[in-house]
Amino acid sequence: MMDYSRTALRLIKSILRIIFPPLCFHCKKSHDKLGAPLCEACITFLEWVSPSTEILVTFEGMGPAESLLQNLKAGRAPHLASLLAAYMAIQYAQSQLPMPDLVVHVPSARWRKWQTGGECAGSLAKELSKLMEVPCAALLKRKGQLLRQDLLTREERTYLSSEEFQWKNWQNLSGKTVLLVDDTVTTGTTLACCAERLWEASPAKIIKMGCLDRGYLQG
Ligand SMILES: [Zn+2]
Repeated sequence: MMDYSRTALRLIKSILRIIFPPLCFHCKKSHDKLGAPLCEACITFLEWVSPSTEILVTFEGMGPAESLLQNLKAGRAPHLASLLAAYMAIQYAQSQLPMPDLVVHVPSARWRKWQTGGECAGSLAKELSKLMEVPCAALLKRKGQLLRQDLLTREERTYLSSEEFQWKNWQNLSGKTVLLVDDTVTTGTTLACCAERLWEASPAKIIKMGCLDRGYLQG
């Protein structure tokens, strides 16, 4: 019996190693924690920013957090969404903002969806909504965008009008506090454009949040 369970355990461990190779997503070194995305050294650098700005941005755009988000964005490790969302939820709790009534995400551009088969901000919003026990909804869609946003300059991005974002599912938001979630925040323009669209449904408050900062906090 003892031998059997030991063999079973070994078997499970070997399967887990196939699904989640014990390699740190940041430093790429192998480590012993099965299923852990970061080694123990790297996980100590995974720290959320203390909430202070108009947009809540959870991580500074560097280090292990960036590696995790890149892997999530590339569609290589969908389970990373729950880990990153947990950090976002902790930061949100520290912000002392009111609990939202609804979580909404910034829709991905079509080329991104083709590339990864999913929506990064959408999966973060879904996990956040589970953690916060608040419903989430896919309210917005992106107009056929041909330009890759990450190839645009800061100036070009500011020209991105809210016309870029359209209603996918109209919902009356009157009196509601909406948490609007994106994965990466560069200038805040994308979040502002989505918020502008959402204001049409008369929410009481829109709280903007991003997982990773790419110039917003510094700029
Ligand atoms: Zn590491």
